[in-house]
Amino acid sequence: MAQAQKITPRAKDFSEWYGDVITQAELADYSPVRGCMVIRPHGYRLWELMQRALDDMFKATGHRNAYFPLFIPLSFLAKEAEHVEGFAKEVAVVTHTRLRATGKPGAGGIEVDPASALEEPLVVRPTSETIIYAMFAKWIQSYRDLPLLLNQWCNVVRWEMRTRMFLRTTEFLWQEGHTAHATEAEAEEEARRMLGVYRTFQEEWMAMPVLTGRKTDSERFAGALRTYAVEALMQDNKALQAGTSHNLGQNFAKAFEVKFQTAAGGLDHVWNTSWGVTTRMIGGLIMSHGDDNGLICPPKLAPVQVAIVPIWKSDEEKAQVSAVSHQLKADLDKAGLRVELDLRDTVKPGAKYFEWEAKGVPLRLEIGPRDVAAGHTMAARRTGGKAPLKLDSIVVAVAGVLDEIQAVLFQAARERREANSVRGVTKAQFLEFMKGKGGFAYGGFCGDGACEAEIKEQTGATIRVLPDPEFRSPQAPKTCMWCGKPSVAEAVWAQAY
Ligand SMILES: [Zn+2]
Repeated sequence: MAQAQKITPRAKDFSEWYGDVITQAELADYSPVRGCMVIRPHGYRLWELMQRALDDMFKATGHRNAYFPLFIPLSFLAKEAEHVEGFAKEVAVVTHTRLRATGKPGAGGIEVDPASALEEPLVVRPTSETIIYAMFAKWIQSYRDLPLLLNQWCNVVRWEMRTRMFLRTTEFLWQEGHTAHATEAEAEEEARRMLGVYRTFQEEWMAMPVLTGRKTDSERFAGALRTYAVEALMQDNKALQAGTSHNLGQNFAKAFEVKFQTAAGGLDHVWNTSWGVTTRMIGGLIMSHGDDNGLICPPKLAPVQVAIVPIWKSDEEKAQVSAVSHQLKADLDKAGLRVELDLRDTVKPGAKYFEWEAKGVPLRLEIGPRDVAAGHTMAARRTGGKAPLKLDSIVVAVAGVLDEIQAVLFQAARERREANSVRGVTKAQFLEFMKGKGGFAYGGFCGDGACEAEIKEQTGATIRVLPDPEFRSPQAPKTCMWCGKPSVAEAVWAQAY
C-alpha cells in the first residue's frame, strides 16, 4: 500500500494529485533552477515515443528536420511588431559572454566581466519564426523553391513566474514546424493539415480526444493571421490547449523580405505557417487517464507496456518461474513490445504491483508456480480486470489486450468529455456551470473582444476554440449567450490551464 498512499486522491486535491503522480511515476523532478524541471528517464522515454510517432507523421506529410540557433539577435525579434509585443515580457536575454575572478572567497569569487558586453544582446529563442524566416529569405528565390517544409525539435525558453511541471515551465521541449508557400490557399491548407496531424496523434496515440477549431483574436499567436488549436478536457474539467497551428500570412515574409519569383514572372512575398506541440502533452496524458493509483499510459506510448512479475517462495520455485518468465519476456520482446521482467528479490510482489501501476504500465503479467503448471499467466489490466492468458499463444493475446486498453482509454476519455460538456447555454446556465464543476460550454458568441474579456473577468473562462463544423451543435446559436447580440459563431468556453 505504501506506494498508493503517497498519491493524494484526485477528489481531495487535483493539483496535488498531479504532482504526486509525476513524482511516483518518476517522470520528472524539480530542479535547482526555479521554473525548470528535470525530465527523468521514464518521462523522457515517453517523450521519445511521442517524438518518434509525430516525426514519422511529419515526414509522411513531406517535412524535413533542420536545426537553427538557440540565440536570436534582439533586432530580429523587433522586426514583426505584434510578435515582439507578444513575447517581450517573457524572454531571457544574453548580454555578456564571460565571467572573471574577483579574488573574493565563495560565491563572490566570480562575476560577470563588464568588458564582455555584447554589442547586440541575444535573446534565447521563445520560438524561432524570426531566425528561421531570416534564413528562408536566403534560400527562397523562385516558386520552384516552394513549398519549403521544415521542422525542428528543440528547447525554447519563455520566462514564467508560475510554473507547473510539464504544463508551464520556463524551458520546455517542443517541435516547431515552419513552412513557406506560394499562395495563401496553400498555407491555409498546410496549417489545417498539421492541425489534423496533431489530432490524429493525440487521439490515436495518446487516446486523448480533442476539439479542433480556430482561436479568437485574443488567443491568436502573436504575428499570425489565424491560429488553430486542439483542445482537450482534463479530469478536473479544465481545458488544455494541446497544440497550435498558425497561418502566418505574409507578416513575417514582409518583415524578413522573404520574396520569390512567381511562375508568371512577378515578385511576391511567401505565405508562412508554423505549428507546434510540446512536452505539455505529457501533462495532458497524465490528466486525461491517470487515477488515484498513479499514471495510466496508453499502450502505444507506454515506456513499459508489459511488466512481468514472477512470484515464488522457495529457491526451487524461483528457478522454475524465472525460466518461464525469461522465455515469456523473450517472446514478447521479439514481437517488438516494451517489456520489463521484475526479478528483484528485495521487493515483495504486492509492492512491485503498486510500483508498476504508479508508472502507468498498461499490462502486468503475474506468474507463479501454479500458473506455470496451468500453462498460463494472470494478466492484470491497468484499467481494471484480471484474467489468465495462455502461455502458448501469449504474443497474440497480449497484443490484443493492449489494443483493447488503448481503445478503452480513448472511449472513456471521450465519454467523460461529453458528459462534462453543455450546449446551447444561456448566460445564467453558463454562470452556474462555470461556478460549479465546469467543463466545455458551447454557446453563441457576438464576436466582440470586449464581451469575451468581460466573460473571462467574471468567470475565468476563455473561448478555447470556435469549433470546426463536426463539433458544432446541430442548431447554430442565434444570439451571444452573454450579451444577447446576434451570434457570429458558436464558441466553446472553459477554464483552462
Ligand atoms: Zn457578446
